[in-house]
Amino acid sequence: MGHTGTDADVIVAGAGPTGLMLACELRLAGADVVVVERLAERTGESRAGGIHSRTLEVLDQRGILDRFLAEGEPQPVGHFSGLYLEFDESESRHPYPLMILQSAVERLLEEWALELGVRIRRSAAVSGIHQDAETVTVALETGGEGGARLRARYLVGCDGGRSTVRKLAGIGFPGTEATMTALIGDVELPDLPEDYVWVRRTPGGDYSAIAFEPGWYRVITSEYDRVADRDEPATFEQLRESLIRVAGTDFGMRAPRWVSRFNDAARQAAEYRRGRVLLAGDAAHIHFPAGGQGLNMGVQDAVNLGWKLASVVAGRAPEELLDSYHAERHPVGERVLHNTRAQAALARPGAATDALREVFGSLMVFDDVNRVLRHMLTALDVRYPVGGDHPMEGRRVFDADLKTDGGVTGVYPLLHAGRPVLLDLRGGGEVAAAAEGWTDRVDLVEARSEDASWPVPPVGEVPAPAALLIRPDGHVAWAADSVGAERAAALRTALTTWFGPARRG
Ligand SMILES: Cc1cc2nc3c(=O)[nH]c(=O)nc-3n(C[C@H](O)[C@H](O)[C@H](O)COP(=O)(O)OP(=O)(O)OC[C@H]3O[C@@H](n4cnc5c(N)ncnc54)[C@H](O)[C@@H]3O)c2cc1C
Repeated sequence: MGHTGTDADVIVAGAGPTGLMLACELRLAGADVVVVERLAERTGESRAGGIHSRTLEVLDQRGILDRFLAEGEPQPVGHFSGLYLEFDESESRHPYPLMILQSAVERLLEEWALELGVRIRRSAAVSGIHQDAETVTVALETGGEGGARLRARYLVGCDGGRSTVRKLAGIGFPGTEATMTALIGDVELPDLPEDYVWVRRTPGGDYSAIAFEPGWYRVITSEYDRVADRDEPATFEQLRESLIRVAGTDFGMRAPRWVSRFNDAARQAAEYRRGRVLLAGDAAHIHFPAGGQGLNMGVQDAVNLGWKLASVVAGRAPEELLDSYHAERHPVGERVLHNTRAQAALARPGAATDALREVFGSLMVFDDVNRVLRHMLTALDVRYPVGGDHPMEGRRVFDADLKTDGGVTGVYPLLHAGRPVLLDLRGGGEVAAAAEGWTDRVDLVEARSEDASWPVPPVGEVPAPAALLIRPDGHVAWAADSVGAERAAALRTALTTWFGPARRG
């Protein structure tokens, strides 16, 4: 039961990576949440193939990263439209893309959700929504059982690129049309030469084969002279014919596990929130999957929204806090659409693109160029507009080593509970005095930084601060190199903005 006689505080539509992560974040912050999922069971479709540094950090912030590392394979490099990107060990504790199938990510997130007490209702597809001043009512199609209704304070559509919630809420999805068609399949390729390297460009398009596990490959073909109908089924035979067209052979392709199709259409929801309905993940943005950013962005949408929505339903923060979700996440989505359009342009066949790739590739050997693209793809450089001009403000916090009375810890273990943390790294009492009235909601931690400087992409190394206010999503709401009256006032403003007014008495 929700806090107000509703069926739940929040209904999450869709048990993909975004919906599951959001449900966990909400639950961790005390909200009662039910996930409704159209399908009767997880599909097991492999889909996305990897997660990037910032998502690995986000999982680390919650203490569940080990589960993913146990099933994934760290990669030595990433890529921008097939051109190699180097990683830098000094920027993150996880400076690598982790190769792990989406099916495994979903299984691990669902396990965590069930541990936290999230209710997941399958065979339940959202088919209608009605909002009033206090609640949102959701009509569900439940297959053989007939329909059902659920009422909650908020509904979040995490129901994928063709989101029913987005359409029912009347939220526009402007963007650019598809210009190509890609087929993808997990298959055996007994005749693939041993010296085969990853992506091959040909005059008719390109193809790639990646060995995910011994015995089978993920094959992708991209062709640029035709855009398939969205509703046309993708078949093994189409994939085989496409591979023969672009590669001249099917490499003995057999035993398909999964075949699907995608394209380079790029669209973004005009509003991430309309009243009591919000959107996250593919429901809010779709784009070419180059560089593997979609699932990552969905998980990060969820981590941005979860604590805010939980605070609002619990009455700890005003409803306006929810507006910061669109303000912070829409620009991030816009930038990803932009970079995937650039990657799609760099992938087209033809002499002009060959030349462009050669020029681009020759620039990417420079560290500065590599760094800009690496930050863009990993989302390590995202800065939210929280106000303030300290270089750490708005940016994600590094998992620096801290010395506390209890021994050495990292910053991320302090975030496992999903609560805000006010880190006092110099002592002296000013920080504690400024935060009086918020200690019921904010964990005040006194510690010393083990390092003189912390990495802050894209700024570089920044001197360890005197104090930091870290939001539950790991972004810095306020930072100070010394805490005088002016910085203490700014701290109180930040505490009020993000965690509601001070408690008196
Ligand atoms: C070929 C390919 C490779 C990719 N590789 C990567 C990669 O390496 N890294 C990366 O980050 N991303 C990658 N992506 C993108 C990634 O797969 C998506 O961004 C990700 O699945 C989005 O997750 P989501 O939870 O938002 O949506 P989805 O995964 O689409 O989940 C939506 C869920 O909602 C359910 N649903 C739909 N309608 C309803 C309804 N009316 N009511 C209730 N439930 C409903 C669906 O059944 C589904 O379970 C790739 C995509 C493709 C196609």
